[in-house]
Parts: sequence; structure tokens; C-alpha cells
Amino acid sequence: MKKRLFTPGPISVPEDVLLEMAKPMIHHRTPEFLHIAQQSVEGLKYFFQTKNDVFIIAGSGTAAMEAATVNLLSPGDKALVISGGKFGERFVELIKAYNCVPVVIEPGWGNPVELNMVQDALKQQPEIKAVFATLVETSTATTYDIKGIGEIVSQKQDTVFVVDGISGLGAVECRTDQWNIDVLVSGSQKALSLPPGLSFISISEKAWTKINVSKMPKYYLNLKEYKKAMEKFDFPFTMAVGLVIGLKKSLEKIKQQGLENLWNIHQKRAEAVRKAAVSMGLRIFSKAPSDAVTALVLPEGIDGEKFCSDLRKEFGMSVAGGQGKLKGKIIRISHFGYQDEFDTIAVIAGIEIMLTRYGYKLEPGTGVREAMKVLFSL
Ligand code: PMP
Repeated sequence: MKKRLFTPGPISVPEDVLLEMAKPMIHHRTPEFLHIAQQSVEGLKYFFQTKNDVFIIAGSGTAAMEAATVNLLSPGDKALVISGGKFGERFVELIKAYNCVPVVIEPGWGNPVELNMVQDALKQQPEIKAVFATLVETSTATTYDIKGIGEIVSQKQDTVFVVDGISGLGAVECRTDQWNIDVLVSGSQKALSLPPGLSFISISEKAWTKINVSKMPKYYLNLKEYKKAMEKFDFPFTMAVGLVIGLKKSLEKIKQQGLENLWNIHQKRAEAVRKAAVSMGLRIFSKAPSDAVTALVLPEGIDGEKFCSDLRKEFGMSVAGGQGKLKGKIIRISHFGYQDEFDTIAVIAGIEIMLTRYGYKLEPGTGVREAMKVLFSL
């Protein structure tokens, strides 16, 4: 059975990237690899839309989130977190784990954040050193007004803006420098269409001023060491050679395609799934739905966990279930990774068929028809 991944990471990887990574291993301190690293970093700057430093870390996305926390903060520092789901909560947990003090804005799962709440928090507590937000909260498939928050934080001389772009970057518009993002983190297993294992972090001049005075203990994730090594496009530790070779290839393809085109493709796939879902009588969970991943509320009485497992077993399609308090209630379909219009149609068909098998009343082809209209402008 053909495997189709619609999970919000890991995703399917294109053959040309897989073949690139299958070439014989090379040593990580050779001119050949350092040249590949240099091209990858340059490609990442385009992907991030930044002139700032960008570093590659061998570790999943959370490694870059932890790097942001331990490099920017010192024990006892206050940090504001916009937490609207599982990954916002992860920043809160990280900040607590390093004996810092989180100030949390909770807009509620699936809701956008009100900018005046951010403004008020920073006005009332000027000692806040950093603001942490998420571009796309994967657990609720919600997107946030990063540009708006960036404008507010940029007016504070002593506060930096950190964004988790792990599942949003490449799928939805995000402009690091224009939007005043001081630190942006991302990961390999999402819109870059790579296997998991790499994370990335960009650092602005303003963020370096914080890093240079941080008293937090750190070792593997000490970004000053990464900066020193990066002067020669090298890394402080053994880099995940194969993944970086794949990264270079993936970034070349994105550059060729153009970032705006990539955002538009995700937008179309997401719109197709949203319209199809509504036509089938399903509710979109988020009030600010993202184009990176879509969360659908299943009809009453259908267990989301079983639904996902049946889709995988019967049709080879992996979609994600709900996390935390949404477990069993929603399914989540990613729009990134190596997939095309016919994959989008396939996942909608799979959901339709499975819903019918669960006894849900539906005219066959209802969702597929809507998706075709969006995807092929019919
Ligand atoms: N933040 C977001 C928004 C994510 O989607 C994920 C992964 N699903 C993470 C953080 C954590 O990344 P990782 O699992 O690669 O450590």
C-alpha cells in the first residue's frame, strides 16, 4: 500500500532529495562539506527572509526552542509567552525549567491573540526580557499575527521577539526582518520536506546584545560557539552530514520555485480542505485557521484516534489526531511536505469514505467536488 503522510511532520520527502542524501558519506570537516554548509546557510537566509545570522543545530525543533531560551535569558528573567496550544505551552515549560518566570497570555485554544493584551503586558511589566510566540500553533492549526506582535515588541529597546516558526515557516508568509523578529526557530520535517533531525535559529543584532550578557548555563546549545564556528561555515560539534546535504537540495528547489509561490500552494491546498470539510458538514476547529495544517472537528460519537488509525491501516494515509485536551476530538491534516493536488484530493476522499463507514450520512464525492473546484479552478 502506498504511504501518504499528512501528519504535521514528519512528511513525505521527494525522491531527488532522498537520492541526494543516499550518496556516500563525507567527513564534516572537509572543504566539500563546509561548502555545502555555506550554501545551506545562504539558502536558509532566503527561507527565513533575513540578513541576520542563521545557525543549523543537529536536533529536532525543540532544540532550537531551547537554544533561544538558554541563550537569551538569565535565571530569574521574566518572559512573556503567547500560549494557545501545546507548543506555546512548551515555551512556558522551557522557561520554567531554566528558572525563569513566564508571564502567560492565553487566548484560548484555536483563538487569535488580541494585540492590546501584548501591549498591556509589556507596559505593566517593562522588565520582560523576551516575548515568545508561535507562527502556526500545530496543535490547534491556528496562525497568529506575528507582524503585529513584532511591531509592538520592536518599540521596546530591552525586549526581544522570539517566534516558533517550526511548522509555519515556508507554508505561510513570514518575513523575519520586515516583521521585527529577533529570533526565529524552525525545523526540517515540515515545509522544507526533509526528514526530522535538524533545527534552525536566526539571531538579530538586538538578540546578540542579550546573548552576550546571558548568565544561563549551557553547553551544546551555546550559540556563541556556533557563531565562532560559522565564520568558516563550520559547526562546533559533528553535524548531521546527510541531512544538511538534503537541506541544500531542498533549499535550492525552494529558491527556484520562489517563496511566495510556495505560500500560495499551501494556501490553495488548505482552502481546498477547508471548503471540502465544510461541504461535508464538518467544522474547522480554529478561528484563525492556518494554511500549514488544518484541524477538523469530527462528528459527535466518532473517536478521532480510531479514525486516524483506520485511515492509516485501510488506506495508508496518516493524518494526526488531537493533542492534549483535543485528543479524540479532532483530526489534523498538514499541507506541507512532498504532496500534490491529487494527494489533497486523496485525503479528502479517504476521509469521506471513512466517515461513511462510520455511519455518517454523506453523498459520495461531496468534499472531493469542492476540493477539485479550488485546486483546479473549475
Ligand atoms: N513547535 C511547533 C509549532 C511544532 O509543530 C513542533 C513539532 N510538531 C514543535 C515545536 C516541536 O518540534 P520537534 O518535535 O521537532 O522537536
